[in-house]
Order: sequence, then C-alpha cells, then structure tokens
Amino acid sequence: MLPYPVQCCLVVPSSVTGLPMESAPTHPPELLEDLISCQGCDLLYHKRDLQLGEAARCARCGDVIQTRKPRTIDRSLAASLAALFLLLVSLCTPFLSLSRSGLQSSMTMLNAAEALWNSQMRWLGCLTLGLIVLLPLARYSMMCWVLGRLFFRRRIKPSMLTAFRWSIRLEPWAMVDIFIVGVVVSLVKISSLANLEVGLAFWALLGLTAVSLFLNYVLCKDTIWDKLTCRA
Ligand SMILES: [Zn+2]
Repeated sequence: MLPYPVQCCLVVPSSVTGLPMESAPTHPPELLEDLISCQGCDLLYHKRDLQLGEAARCARCGDVIQTRKPRTIDRSLAASLAALFLLLVSLCTPFLSLSRSGLQSSMTMLNAAEALWNSQMRWLGCLTLGLIVLLPLARYSMMCWVLGRLFFRRRIKPSMLTAFRWSIRLEPWAMVDIFIVGVVVSLVKISSLANLEVGLAFWALLGLTAVSLFLNYVLCKDTIWDKLTCRA
C-alpha cells in the first residue's frame, strides 16, 4: 500500500466540474507511473485519461496538474522555431542607436555584455550573456530538436528525455522578458540625454517575449512526456 492517499482530481473542460470520488479510476497502486503529484501542494493523484482541451485541477489548491492540449507538438514546434529565429535576429542586428552632437553609436546585445565585461562589472556581463543569450538559445534549441523529432516521427532517443527535461528547467532562467522591461525603463530615463533609436533586435526581443508566452500556452508537457516514454 502507498503511504499516502491517492485523490480524485477535478477535470475542467471549460468550467470547473467536480467529479465524485467513486468515479476515480482504479489503477493498481504499484503502478507508480500512473500517479502524478500536484506542483502546488504535493498531493498525489491518479492520472486521468483526459479528452482534448481538458485540464485536471487539484481539488485542494486548484493548481493545474494535468493537461491535454490539441495539436501541441506542431504548435509548440512552430513557436520554438519562431523563438529561435527571433533570438538569432536579436543577436545579429543593432539593438539601440544613440546620437548626440553629431556623434552616433549603435550596439548589439553582445556589445552590451562585452561593455559590461570591460567596465569592471564582469559578473553582470556574464549574467547578461548567460540569462539573455545562452540559456534561451539552449532552451529553444533543445525544444526544437525534441519537438522536431517527434513531429517527423523519428526514433525516440534517451537523450531526448534529458533535452526536454532541461528545456523545462531552463524556462525560469531565460529572462528575456525581464530584460525587455528593464530596457524600456532605461530608455525612458536616458531619452532626455540623447536621441534614441531602437533597432531591429529590440523588436525581435519583444516578439520573442510574445512567442514565449504563446509557447507556454500551447505546450502540453504531459503529452510530450507520454510521447517520449512511448505511452501515447
Ligand atoms: Zn494541489
């Protein structure tokens, strides 16, 4: 017997609908892969066979514990490719141009990290390079690789599970959206000192922030994990 209770969750198609405890599926308790824990309160549940568009919520804290989103692989792959493309555009094009008294200067994001490194703020330069460039690049590359292989129905490799796990873990550390907010605040503050012109990289990062939100919306981790472990 398991040392903890296994509860029945609430399945939510469009509005909250409670299910009675008697309707909980009766899986053998030794099948641990059929159990799922709530990220919010650690309560353990049996996995449900959800229909497309349904979500299961924790009956105790209300967190979403299981989802089944339609066309998640092709939509997530499209969003990941778009994010990767926008990130590469933001690295290769000018981010900001400053002009004052006939002098003009433009910089890319890599120039910004380099300038911080050269101005005795090496740790800040490293953080900028890591959190704004390297981690998002790694995350979207791994996501594209895993989803691309699933989309083209290639053989599942063990390294795909590792890559997908790390692409999920890196999500909170890819801070492009926070960087954009910081840049906008800085632009407002220095706009009185010089003529500013935002470059293509700024708009690419803004687009990347929107695409990243869309990716989080369409990505169904449960479905991807089931595909990777050959359960679906
Ligand atoms: Zn919970």
